[in-house]
Amino acid sequence: MRDMLSEALSRPAAQQPPWPDAARARSVSAFLVTLPPLVTPGRIRELRWDLARVARGEAFLLQGGDCAETFAGNTPEHVRGNVATLLRMAAVLADAAGRPVVTVGRTAGQYAKPRSQAVDGLGLPVYRGDIVNAAEPHARARIPDPVRMLGAYQNARATLDLLGPEQPGAVYTSHEALLLDYERALLVPDPDGLPRLYAGSAHFLWIGERTRQPDGAHIAFARLLANPVGVKIGPGTTPEQAAEYVERLDPEAEPGRLTLISRMGSARVRDVLPPIVERVTATGHQVVWQCDPMHGNTRESAIGYKTRHFDDIADEIEGFWAVHRALGTHPGGVHLELTGDDVTECLGGAQGITEYGLAGRYESACDPRLNAGQALELAQRVAALFEK
Ligand code: PEP
Ligand code: MN
Repeated sequence: MRDMLSEALSRPAAQQPPWPDAARARSVSAFLVTLPPLVTPGRIRELRWDLARVARGEAFLLQGGDCAETFAGNTPEHVRGNVATLLRMAAVLADAAGRPVVTVGRTAGQYAKPRSQAVDGLGLPVYRGDIVNAAEPHARARIPDPVRMLGAYQNARATLDLLGPEQPGAVYTSHEALLLDYERALLVPDPDGLPRLYAGSAHFLWIGERTRQPDGAHIAFARLLANPVGVKIGPGTTPEQAAEYVERLDPEAEPGRLTLISRMGSARVRDVLPPIVERVTATGHQVVWQCDPMHGNTRESAIGYKTRHFDDIADEIEGFWAVHRALGTHPGGVHLELTGDDVTECLGGAQGITEYGLAGRYESACDPRLNAGQALELAQRVAALFEK
């Protein structure tokens, strides 16, 4: 197992921070290894069973939370507000779907962000999430500091304490498996001695759109995990590539082992997704099909805010639904950026947030989130699709 892990991590890894002092990064990792894992294999296995039900169309997957959690924003009010929003949405969806909803927070570890540019608008090295550097617009703040991995661990631990014991009914946790030094340090050997590893950082991990290179370190790492894993697939994904993820990440053809998270954009989902779904269906594997209607619909507002329109978000889900209905596959879930806080980051919704309204309470450390009202409204839109 150790050899396979070393091989996986020796592959090219995109989006890793340039730690200025490699010895310091190594000593932080060595300390992190001594800390207890954040989640347990038993509860990870429960999520595998739950996702098998989602893959078979017997349950629905609701996943959501902040784009980027922050250490300063990790307050009981914020965490409880996000979870309460998810649970209210889950109740609406379960009622409409007539089947259980598996609820997964983007929480207790969503601290690392992939970035498309290495420098920001001010010419500073980009903010890569609180696990790597600080968002403050100063060159010093942006220097990657591996000690921040310990801050992420402690903050994740505090969030988990708030979420309560790991037991049926409690929300599962997830984040993007981006920062490999962190993920590697929290691996747990299989309690039954089987040749596989559990990520101890969260129940569910996904590989992002920018780190899904088929021969790269992230996909190879995900392959070794016993946790259920996801891969974000954007509009550039070919049906062949999608089939390759299935073969690599679900070699034993276990329903729900792999979640394919499509994030195509509302204008493209109806054209780009069908050949991918057909090709994956032809492999015979049962994946979870999940729609992320956020990341393909991001744009800049008139006054420079990164935003998304509620109507585009709802429309991408409707397109995703139509594709699966036409092909006889299950629209298995949604993956959303949302918060229980009364923010003004996404346009539209019943509240009618306008381009100028965005300035009121724009607090996201990265991408724009639905506020509690918009999130509930979206849940009702999804509920209506079940009722059709
Ligand atoms: C995200 O989920 O915050 C994200 C960066 O998504 P993607 O990898 O799909 O761009
Ligand atoms: Mn995001």
